[in-house]
Order: sequence, then structure tokens, then C-alpha cells
Amino acid sequence: MSDINLFTAARAKKSLGQHFLRDERVVQRIVDLLRPEEGDQIMEIGPGPGALTALLRPLPWSRLLLLEKDDHYAAEHAARPLPGLEVVAGDALTYPWESLEGPWKIAGNLPYNVASPLMWDIVSRTPRLARAVFMVQKEVGDRLTAKPGSRDYGALSVWIQSFVAARKGFVIGPAAFSPPPKVDSAVVVFEPLPEENRPRHPEELSRLIKLCFQQRRKQLQGILRRALPQPFVLEALATLGIDPAQRPETLSVPQFQALADALFSGKNHA
Ligand code: SAM
Repeated sequence: MSDINLFTAARAKKSLGQHFLRDERVVQRIVDLLRPEEGDQIMEIGPGPGALTALLRPLPWSRLLLLEKDDHYAAEHAARPLPGLEVVAGDALTYPWESLEGPWKIAGNLPYNVASPLMWDIVSRTPRLARAVFMVQKEVGDRLTAKPGSRDYGALSVWIQSFVAARKGFVIGPAAFSPPPKVDSAVVVFEPLPEENRPRHPEELSRLIKLCFQQRRKQLQGILRRALPQPFVLEALATLGIDPAQRPETLSVPQFQALADALFSGKNHA
């Protein structure tokens, strides 16, 4: 392990997806993509031994919140207090994102086993996400940024892109970590969409895209007929100008949002 961490790393725990960054240039690029500014509220998910935290600590933020599931690392960070620094020892999967007041920038080299559900919650439940930069498995990065019609386009793509503009920052190989993961990694940047472009009925959208992408090779009419009365489905598709024979993977993000509104938020169906 190189010495870019804030303190010595303990033996990595596989169950917590611990692959620690050892390349300071990579860490600096993540911080640059986060674009920290004076007075920001910044959260880091999974600081571990603190490679990223070491670069965040000297910045002129107003609050720095570290959320770490591993008690050992949470205690190490808590032992290095700073005004405005808060350490939460807990599971990011159960964090009350709704409680974050004001704008927050969120960063993290995410544990790969929980990255997708975590980002699903963060984009949809954080009241004022200002920006987010996450390191994820490269394949997850491909899904987050996938466009309609591509192999990687699925429920995660539609959901994330309903709330944020997602783009890939850069891709790095296993050698940047200790211990090295088996896969390449990608850093993704999320910039929130204007309120009017976000889903009006998120729960209905979530239901629709989960339903659709369980059977992505089937036609929309066949998939939806199993959940809703057929005449109603056909009428909604016609109103939106969507061919009932289309497959879910060909629908754009705004089309999914409009379809969710039409299908699941009215009172005309069973
Ligand atoms: N930030 C460090 C770095 O880049 O070297 C560590 C990154 S490591 C890939 C993931 C970190 O997330 C570990 O510190 C791990 O303990 C923590 N972690 C794992 N699961 C977590 C969860 N559900 N909630 C919060 N932290 C978690």
C-alpha cells in the first residue's frame, strides 16, 4: 500500500468491497470532477483509510460528512476532528437521504457490490443533489450512461438519467487499487437535471421500468398486457405515438416517463 491514505489501511474486507486507491493522480482527478467550491457541503461515501478524504479535508467546505460502514475506519476518521467534519458510522444503503438539507456534492469510490442500489437512492431521494462523482465497476458505468437501443441500456440507465445527466469521466485499470479488483473501473459524473425534466411520478416510473426490463426482448404490448387491461395499454401507447410492437430498450427516457404517467398514475385502470 502506498502512503496516499490518511492513515494505515487494515486488511481489506472483501464483504465491504474494499479496494483502496493507491494512485494519487486518480484521486486528484476525482476531486477535480467534483468541482469543490468554498462553502460546499460535501459527503464522501466509504472513505476507508482516506485516500480521497486526505484531499478533501484541506478544502474550504462548510460541512464534510463521511459515511462509512466499517467501524474501524469510521473510528479512525472520528479521531481526526475538524470544525464541520461529521463522521457517520453506518450503512449507506439505509441512509436517510431525504434528511440532507441544502445543496450537497457527493463523492465516493463505491463498494461495487452495492453501488447500483445506492446510486438509485441517491439521485432520487437527495432533495438537492448539486453534483456527484462516483467510482464504479466499468460495466456499471456503461449502464449508467447507456443510450436507447444499446446493449447496456436498462432500468438503471433510465432511472439515473431521469434525475441526472450522467457522463463518464475516465476509466482506470485494477493497478490503481490495493488489493486490485478483477475488473476495470470508471468514474462517472452526475449533474442534476432541471426539476421540470424529472419524473412526475417516480414510483410509477420505477414500477414500469422494472417490469419492462425484466423482459427486454419482448414487445411492449405483450409486457404491459400482463399488468394492465389491453385496451387501456393500447390507447396510452397510441396517445404517446409509441408503436405497441416496440421493445422497451428502444424507448427514450422522456418516453418512459410519459408512459409511466399515462399508465400508472390515472384512475382509469385496474
Ligand atoms: N475511499 C477509499 C478509497 O478510495 O481508497 C475506500 C473505497 S472502498 C472501494 C469502499 C469503501 O466503502 C470501504 O471503505 C468500505 O468499508 C465502505 N463501505 C462498504 N459498504 C458500505 C456501505 N454499505 N455503506 C457505507 N460504506 C460502505
